[in-house]
Amino acid sequence: MLVDFHTHSDASDGALAPSEVVARAREAGVSLLAITDHDTVAGYRQVAHTTAVAGAAEDPLRIIPGVEFSCVWSGVTIHVLGLAMDCDHAAMQAGLAQLDEARQARAQKIAQRLEKLGFPGALEGAMAQAGDSQIGRPHFAAWMLEQGHVDTMDAAFDRFLGKGKPGDVKAFWPELETVVGWIVAAGGVPVLAHPLKYRMTNMKLQRLILAFQAAGGLGLEVSSGRQTADQTRYLQQLAQRFDLEVSVGSDFHRDSTYGTAIGVTPPRMEGMRAVWERWIT
Ligand code: AMP
Ligand code: MN
Ligand code: MN
Ligand code: MN
Repeated sequence: MLVDFHTHSDASDGALAPSEVVARAREAGVSLLAITDHDTVAGYRQVAHTTAVAGAAEDPLRIIPGVEFSCVWSGVTIHVLGLAMDCDHAAMQAGLAQLDEARQARAQKIAQRLEKLGFPGALEGAMAQAGDSQIGRPHFAAWMLEQGHVDTMDAAFDRFLGKGKPGDVKAFWPELETVVGWIVAAGGVPVLAHPLKYRMTNMKLQRLILAFQAAGGLGLEVSSGRQTADQTRYLQQLAQRFDLEVSVGSDFHRDSTYGTAIGVTPPRMEGMRAVWERWIT
């Protein structure tokens, strides 16, 4: 069985249209898929009807509503996946609207900082890169690359946009408890995304998990993109210790040699519960 509860489309910072993400998932033989764009469900909405048509019972691919919310906890930017929530629920709509505005205001702040560093026109440039997509730092990086300010996207992050750099603006994100609350209110499953990407100490990560769980969090992403078997085992142990359900995802954004393709084979579960059990009929 292949599943994937963490993918991006061009509704945020992915390269493929939502329909192309779905086509890739079909080709790979994925049976359960969530498109989890950053702070938007616009991509999911474009393909939501795909398996909701007559005869859907025979469709081998089921698409689950999804989103990847940005938030802060203890001064760190955290990503929380919302799965299978009612996208039309008032709490979800209000939350998504708040984050739309937050991303716009944050883009202005990032642009101001880049202008101070001697890169005028950053806002217009990044907005042109984003087009209809939910704007984020990758659009600034793409603009800097296009302008020749950097040689690679990685260099743009390393020097100007990544963790601790001027373009790393997190002042606009809601609190972890708030976004988990929206997902729960809308009947969804909150999953703590890529726990190892926050580069926390073991102690701090456990405090994060406790706060996430106290807010109503249910799942831990034990496999996310490229990681070692040891890392997966470590995250499974954490899930077990805190009695969290297991989730897995590729965090697919685009074809690249270092990224992962759509579709994840779940790790051995050994008495653990998985978020997707509720969607297998
Ligand atoms: P934002 O959502 O605006 O905070 O931007 C974060 C996104 O930037 C992540 O979801 C990644 O897709 C992308 N990203 C982070 N670091 C890098 C990097 N070093 N190179 C390219 N993309 C990155
Ligand atoms: Mn991304
Ligand atoms: Mn993320
Ligand atoms: Mn992601």
